[in-house]
Amino acid sequence: MEWSRSDVLSLARLSCTTCGGEGARRENKGKIIPCPCVLRAIFRACYARFRVCVRKEKYMSRVSFEHFGGKERRMMWGRKDEEYAADFHLVSQRVLDAFHYRIFSCHFLLGADWKLCCRRLRMDRGCFFHAVYRVQETLGRVFYELEPYALYPPRDYFCTRIVAPPRAATLVSRPGPPSCTQPVWR
Ligand SMILES: [Zn+2]
Repeated sequence: MEWSRSDVLSLARLSCTTCGGEGARRENKGKIIPCPCVLRAIFRACYARFRVCVRKEKYMSRVSFEHFGGKERRMMWGRKDEEYAADFHLVSQRVLDAFHYRIFSCHFLLGADWKLCCRRLRMDRGCFFHAVYRVQETLGRVFYELEPYALYPPRDYFCTRIVAPPRAATLVSRPGPPSCTQPVWR
């Protein structure tokens, strides 16, 4: 997904000393380069949604029936909460190197605070938070640019996609009394 000026502006931190609240550091040939504060905001939004999905009682999970694009235009059943949580984890595991994934796993997945993480990973506080920022910035960028289903914004991930019907299909009326006419696909 291409970065848009409105997105980075709305996500930027007003007190950011790097971008001054504009969200973009500099533009390279018209291409917007998002500020780290924007990338961290994207990660926090996705992480908050991940926590909601994981903590939600399983009886509250919804099953949805959706169209999928492509040649076959199939419809499939899906469980969006579980899919989002799985994508969040698997994408992070694939993108991060071993060192940063250990920090991501301890701090974000297992919920350990910085003191426990520093003791467990045998590192000082400064190095730990520097690595946490690197994790947030790396994943924030990936979550936004991921295709075809970006994890940010979460509301787009959870909305049901409606695709156009196949060209060969024609809409006809089912024969019957006037009160029972109902369009069907053939
Ligand atoms: Zn900034």
